[in-house]
This record gives sequence, C-alpha cells and structure tokens, in this order.
Amino acid sequence: MARQLERDLTSFGFRVCVLDHPAQLRDAVSEMTPAAVILDVVFASGDWVGIDVIAALRGEGALDCPVVILSERDDLRARLASVRAGCDGYLVKPANIADVVDLLDRLTLATEDEAFRVLVVDDDAEVARHTEFILRVAGMITDVVDDPMDIVGPLDEFRPELILMDLHMPGCGGQELAAVIRQQVSYAAIPIVFLSDETNVERQLQALQRGGDDFLSKSLGPGELVLAVTTRARRFRLLRSMMMRDGLTGLLNHTNTKQQLEIEIDRARRADAPLAFIMVDIDHFKAVNDTYGHAAGDAVLKSLSRLMKERLRATDIVGRMGGEEFAAVLADTDAAGAHRIFDELRRAFAAMRYNAEGREFSVTMSCGVAQFPSYDDASRLSNAADKALYAAKHNGRNRVETAPTGVEDQAASR
Ligand code: GH3
Ligand code: MG
Ligand code: MG
Repeated sequence: MARQLERDLTSFGFRVCVLDHPAQLRDAVSEMTPAAVILDVVFASGDWVGIDVIAALRGEGALDCPVVILSERDDLRARLASVRAGCDGYLVKPANIADVVDLLDRLTLATEDEAFRVLVVDDDAEVARHTEFILRVAGMITDVVDDPMDIVGPLDEFRPELILMDLHMPGCGGQELAAVIRQQVSYAAIPIVFLSDETNVERQLQALQRGGDDFLSKSLGPGELVLAVTTRARRFRLLRSMMMRDGLTGLLNHTNTKQQLEIEIDRARRADAPLAFIMVDIDHFKAVNDTYGHAAGDAVLKSLSRLMKERLRATDIVGRMGGEEFAAVLADTDAAGAHRIFDELRRAFAAMRYNAEGREFSVTMSCGVAQFPSYDDASRLSNAADKALYAAKHNGRNRVETAPTGVEDQAASR
C-alpha cells in the first residue's frame, strides 16, 4: 500500500519518502523537513503504535508539519485519539488518492500568506486610528475613510475583504451606507461589521436588516476584535475563492481567467512590457476516460493543474477554461520564453505515470502560445493562441506551437 501511495503521490508532483516503521520517524524528521507526514495507524486493542510517536515528537517540538492518519477505523474514539496526539487530518482506508491529495493541499498550501485587507469607516479620527493600529499589529492591511461620502474610491482601489463601520456618522449613517454598498453586485457579499456602542437591541436589529453582518462593541478588547475580524475575513476569502475557482482543480474558472487576461493586458500596455497567453489541451483525453474511467480522468486533470501551479510563478495566472482545456497568462514574458516554459511543462506532464484498473498509463498535452503586443487585445490574443494550439494538434500532438510574432510573419500567415 505504501508503494502504491508513493507512486500515486509522485504522479501528483509530491516528493515521497517511505518509512517502514513509526520508530524511524524521529530520525527522518530531524534529517529532512517534510511538508506533511502520512501515518498508517493500527488502533488494535491497547496498541496505539504510531500515534504515541506523533504525540511524543509534538511534545518535544520536534515535529511541526501537518500529520495525516490513515486508518481502517472510522469511529469517534480512534479519531479522538488522533486529535489528542496532535494530528491534523484523518482518512479512512482505502483512501481515494484524490482525497489524499486534496487534504494534503489543504494542509500544506498556505492560503493565508496574504494579509487580510480591512477598511475602517469612522468619522472619529482618533477611534479609526486606534482600530487601525490594533489590526495592523495583528498583521492586517488597513485603510481609513473618515467621511462616509468618500467611500467609493477606497472600495474599488483598496478592495477590502471586510468593512468595519461606525454606526453613527454625520451626513450618512452606517446603516444607510451599508445599504448603498449592498446595492452594488460586486460588494453584495463583503462582510460589513458595525463597530458601535449602540446597546439598543431594536436599533441593532434595524441596522443588520439594512445589510450589516454583525455588531461589535467599541469597547471590545484588541484580541477579541482581531479574532472577530479574522474569522469573518477568512470566511469571505474562502467564499470568494470558491466562486472564482473551478471546483475540481482549484484553478480560476473561465470567466475569471478572461477577466485576469484583460487586467494583465492593460498592465502590460501601460508598462510597455510583453505578455504571453497560452492555451493547453490534453491529448486524446476522451480515450483516457473511456479506457480508465472518469475518476482516472479527473486525477489527470488535477495533476496537470498542480503541475502548472507548481512550476509557474505565483504571479502567473492559470485557469481551467472548461473540460480538459487550460489557459495561462504570463506577465513580462514573450512568446519564446513562454514556449520554453511550456515545452518543459509538456515534458514533465508526459513523464507522469498514473495507475488505474491495475494498469499504468501516461498522458500528453498540446499547447498554443501567443504574445502581446503582436496580438494587441484579449480576443486577438486568444484567437492566435487557439490557432497555434490547433496547429500543435495537427502537427502530431504532445508539442508546443507559437503563433507568428513579427508583423511580416503575421502577414505571411494570412
Ligand atoms: P484531442 O487530442 O483532439 O484534444 O482529443 P480529446 O479526446 O482530448 O478531445 P475531445 O474534445 O474529443 O474530448 C474531450 C474529453 O474530455 C471529452 C470529455 O469526456 C472529457 N472531459 C471533459 N471534462 C471532463 C472532466 O471534468 N472530467 C473528466 N474525467 N473528463 C472530462
Ligand atoms: Mg478539448
Ligand atoms: Mg483534448
């Protein structure tokens, strides 16, 4: 089972080290720094082998990565024992490889490396500064609006993930302002929390009906304020990401990829910099589904997504355009650079081995590259990449083709 898991995880781009006994874990974690530990535990009567090793290492501070338990038991007692020993995840055998990868990704990919953005709206500069200070100390990014009539600019430019709003302000009260913000579709879901000393429950309820999410007392301690803001902002970030992203792969969905392409083109135009747009399509994917089943097909889609996310820069944009089609936007990269990067990706993808129905198989992909400013808007760019992709398919698949880049080339290709 360990060997099978090793093979599967390797095909998803993980580097795996297999230990035959929990006792080896102590030496192993002191030599390498694993991103996660997966431990097969036998919860036989009185025998908690493995779990005790985790508990001991945790106690000494010698193990600080997430630990996932694999077990045949699916009862509360076994799960509780794992939680008590300081484990982070629990999977029942036989675990589906896609579930293992999902869990590992969730535990190891930090989604909170970016600070939360909080907009403070308060006419009292003193109070606003104090609130800002508390949030900044906790690592958040803040902006202040002291006149409610000035909120439009900061909303669009600062892009807050939570609004902390005073209820009583001259000119426009907090609840009126919340109602106005809620009228705009793009801000319909942003958490609005009133920071107020209003103790009248009736008036509190009224304010919530107008679009506020919650009430916090102005006399709340710093720790409580930070916790209240963090939990709500985190929830908002998660919801927004679920709306923008494809459920299977976690990549941007079609709509948002196109939106990001437009934004990046504007940026490249302003900076007078190149940009590459790449379309990717898996080769003979229908045959993969037909031969190895839809679940195996899904695993291939996931592993390609992981591969792209892992090999590209954090600033690059990767989306799933639908089915087995993907797209990427690479800023500050010309067609030749993108061609090199995707040829390397193509090679790595083709080298991956999958297992299904007791058989091993591999899959290839074709890519089409086009560059800005040779194609100077989003639709020309994606048409050109699409044509290049078609050429890659036509020329035998498992290859990368680039759309003509020079003016003469383009004239020649017409
Ligand atoms: P080509 O090399 O020309 O691209 O051939 P192809 O078989 O990849 O192309 P085709 O467009 O005929 O088939 C795409 C297949 O992708 C058909 C569909 O069943 C499969 N597919 C689309 N979305 C999903 C998905 O979410 N999961 C799985 N497993 N398969 C999917
Ligand atoms: Mg296709
Ligand atoms: Mg295809």
